[in-house]
Amino acid sequence: MSKKSSLLYSNDIAVEYPDSYYAATAPLLGRQPQLTGVVTCDVCIVGAGFTGLSAALTLAEKGYDVIVLDAHRVGWGASGRNGGQLASGQRVEQDALEKMVGLDDARKLWDLGQDAKSLIKKRIADHSINCDLKPGLLYTDHKPGYVEDSKAYAEKLQRDYDYQDVRFVDCEEVREMVGTEAFYGGNLMSGSYHLHPLKLVVGMARAALAAGVRIFEESPVDDLTYKPSPVVTTEQGQVKAKSLVLACNGYLGKLDKRVAARVMPINNFVIATEPLSEDLAKELIRDDVGVADSRFVVNYYRLSADRRMVFGGGESYGYKFPKDIKSYVRKRMIEIYPQLVDTKIDYGWGGTLGITVNRLPHLEQLAPTAWSASGYSGSGVGMANLCGHLVAEAIDHNLSKFELVSKVPSPMFPGGAALRWPILVLAMLYFSTRDKI
Ligand SMILES: Cc1cc2nc3c(=O)[nH]c(=O)nc-3n(C[C@H](O)[C@H](O)[C@H](O)COP(=O)(O)OP(=O)(O)OC[C@H]3O[C@@H](n4cnc5c(N)ncnc54)[C@H](O)[C@@H]3O)c2cc1C
Repeated sequence: MSKKSSLLYSNDIAVEYPDSYYAATAPLLGRQPQLTGVVTCDVCIVGAGFTGLSAALTLAEKGYDVIVLDAHRVGWGASGRNGGQLASGQRVEQDALEKMVGLDDARKLWDLGQDAKSLIKKRIADHSINCDLKPGLLYTDHKPGYVEDSKAYAEKLQRDYDYQDVRFVDCEEVREMVGTEAFYGGNLMSGSYHLHPLKLVVGMARAALAAGVRIFEESPVDDLTYKPSPVVTTEQGQVKAKSLVLACNGYLGKLDKRVAARVMPINNFVIATEPLSEDLAKELIRDDVGVADSRFVVNYYRLSADRRMVFGGGESYGYKFPKDIKSYVRKRMIEIYPQLVDTKIDYGWGGTLGITVNRLPHLEQLAPTAWSASGYSGSGVGMANLCGHLVAEAIDHNLSKFELVSKVPSPMFPGGAALRWPILVLAMLYFSTRDKI
């Protein structure tokens, strides 16, 4: 067994959930055991977030004997901390996707986005997961010059993708819908959703346990062998498996250097206010939809089931969070909603996600029986769920959809492992400064 077992994430208290609105309100799972001794299974999955648990559920349904290992708790990573926006399509808009992969594959990738929502809704229904799912995401333009593009994009989706659950919203209506003059127009996607992500991931873990999956928490993997068959080593135990899935996303560290070269961790932050009065909540988000603006470092927000403003925004690079997350994010919120200047902030937390150069998921077959799925670049509520499922299908010898994603070239970050941070920081600074001009 290994003796290393060091944790990367100095921002977080190892193994515990952050002090988030989500952790305070989700029906958390009882602690699962740590891995000890040598165990065997068909498929070993490293990471108990959306990717890992989605893969585990699909595999268990197909009769595989599955073990999931997490360094911390179920849903401890980005899956239990995010903005809860379940978007349509990919992180990249269809026009850009068509240029990147051609019209045919762009359509297929759009369809995968639709599959992701169907998969999640089916699991919510099948396993009676109460995760406060609500319809509607409103994309708002923070510059007047973006409005015509939004209008054209809504028309394109209706015309070229036969997608009717989108409509353009003009300046007057957007301001009525979101109670602020910060925006000039936008698109309402009524076939997208928002939800309580930790309730979803915990519900998936319960379903996986019920299907016979063994979950081990507080079991950081610090050594992996892929060939001839996978061996996964933790401080006190070892799993010998026929197949292996890496589902660590932004928390991968150096566990696999090939993946790490293509999937870069960045941090993002969220606050939750005290519960708002019914009138104020309605003034800020009239129709209870999720909202995301057009900034490069996007502001995203929604109302929780108990009418808190859950507002996300701001980024940092490296495994370090700002000291005072509440003030850091509050500033962005007050710029849009001066009405909230006297509202108390009850929670503030951060999380780490994985981004790729092309902003599409990075799926990779690392060895004949080893697979990796990560790099959802801010669209992981849908895509992590879907890609975990696609990896499971690939293990079950159905590779067609896995290959649709994995064949899209996923470039390495410029600068290599040593220089990618400064280069990324410079690039991000440039774009976020452009937001303000
Ligand atoms: C603040 C924030 C807001 C976001 N908002 C949105 C949003 O609104 N909509 C959206 O679509 N996406 C959003 N995202 C992105 C989304 O949350 C992620 O893409 C998605 O949750 C990734 O899921 P995952 O299962 O791949 O990774 P994670 O949920 O991060 O899980 C990875 C797991 O791997 C475990 N792990 C790592 N290394 C090891 C190891 N060596 N041994 C054992 N276990 C290990 C970790 O403990 C962790 O639990 C947001 C992310 C953040 C951080």
